[in-house]
Amino acid sequence: MNEYDSARIADILHHSHGLELTNTPENADILLLNTCSIREKAQEKVFSQLGRWRVLKQNNPHVLIGVGGCVASQEGAAILRRAPFVDLVFGPQTIHRLPQLLNNAKTNLYTKTRRNSEIVDTAFTQIEKFDCLPNPTANGVTAFVTIMEGCSHFCTYCVVPYTRGPEVSRPVDDIIAESVELAQQGVKEITLLGQNVNAYQGLLHDGDSADLAFLIHYLAAIDGIERIRFTSSHPVAMSDSLIAAFANEPKLAPQLHLPVQSGSDRILALMQRGHTTATYLNIIERLRQACPHISLSSDFIVGFPGETDADFQATLDLVAKANFERAFSFIYSPRPGTKASEYLDTVPMSVKQQRLLQLQELLDTNAKTANTKLIGSIQTVLVENVSKNDPTQLIGRAANGLMVHFVGPRHSIGQSVEIRITEAFTKSLRGILL
Ligand code: SAH
Ligand code: SF4
Repeated sequence: MNEYDSARIADILHHSHGLELTNTPENADILLLNTCSIREKAQEKVFSQLGRWRVLKQNNPHVLIGVGGCVASQEGAAILRRAPFVDLVFGPQTIHRLPQLLNNAKTNLYTKTRRNSEIVDTAFTQIEKFDCLPNPTANGVTAFVTIMEGCSHFCTYCVVPYTRGPEVSRPVDDIIAESVELAQQGVKEITLLGQNVNAYQGLLHDGDSADLAFLIHYLAAIDGIERIRFTSSHPVAMSDSLIAAFANEPKLAPQLHLPVQSGSDRILALMQRGHTTATYLNIIERLRQACPHISLSSDFIVGFPGETDADFQATLDLVAKANFERAFSFIYSPRPGTKASEYLDTVPMSVKQQRLLQLQELLDTNAKTANTKLIGSIQTVLVENVSKNDPTQLIGRAANGLMVHFVGPRHSIGQSVEIRITEAFTKSLRGILL
């Protein structure tokens, strides 16, 4: 989602101020940091990056530095106290007001004044942001489209409802218009984004509302769109119609990221996830019935306050039953303002680290086993680019979301090609162009 917001920021500032992206910070007139505060580590990185940029500003006082995203939303003007050389602060919901903030920051720079109210804007503006964005600029054959923002779940460990505000869905027509625009620029695969994307309920022009399954069928009818994905889903909002879409919508890619966080019902209740392990396993069973070759992935938090050995074992048991093709796991990080940050945390860090290693080992083994089964199969791969690590190879995604490396002609970038899989790794595949 931050990647999408960053691309939109570039679009906005190109439109308003004629700014172009540069990969060299030393050449930049404006340095913007789009931040994440989901875990403490991500948040701390912000201030070390700002420290590096401070040197650039010392060398060239005309450079403007801005901080956006969830850390900005959480800290607001406090960022200016910790890093007084920062010129503007904006939240995830106010990127459309950046041109004005930038003008205010420039005025401050030249008049050597500072009025925080003019350079800090982290309000929750709801859907207004999308109404003010310029048309998206496609960058390749795949694109993200945000369809809803915010989250109203309030899982006890999570900062998102505080930094991104309550759930708000964009109207169906707006999403269709954005997707048509992208398709006309050559985009063939779109990934629909939302913190709680399957809770999507968007207005139709007749005043009714549409759910995610309905939206997917609509988007699938757009000329040029070959594949649709969506992320991140919550088990509670996994409706029958959405599960059925994996069976009856050929353009919906057979891939789903469905975070479960823990395999212990006691911990799930403390997390206020709103589901048990049994309901979760039932959902994935129904998904596999609807779409036998669906590739499932999940997120896990280990070391939640009070997690016992038995709770952790329950997570390992769930992983064994669910057989995820991929997964991401994190050590619990207490976030300011969340309910869980007040829970008594008695699990030593060394135990948390040990559990993380053990879980990741199991998840990696499962992923490798699942990927190895694909050796010999023929996958339709949408070619995205030349591999960054090896310029002799091209890369693209298979329908199941896995990155595939292969040798092929550059003119196949942007095309769907057939690849016979010859090698499998934990996170990617290698194959031969047919
Ligand atoms: N809205 C999505 C993604 C949330 S953030 C969802 O609910 O699935 C992505 C992942 O970060 C979460 O799934 C969770 O595993 C992890 N996460 C969130 N808050 C965390 C915290 N305080 N400590 C550690 N991991 C966290
Ligand atoms: Fe955070 Fe996701 Fe829970 Fe919302 S559903 S509170 S974003 S973990």
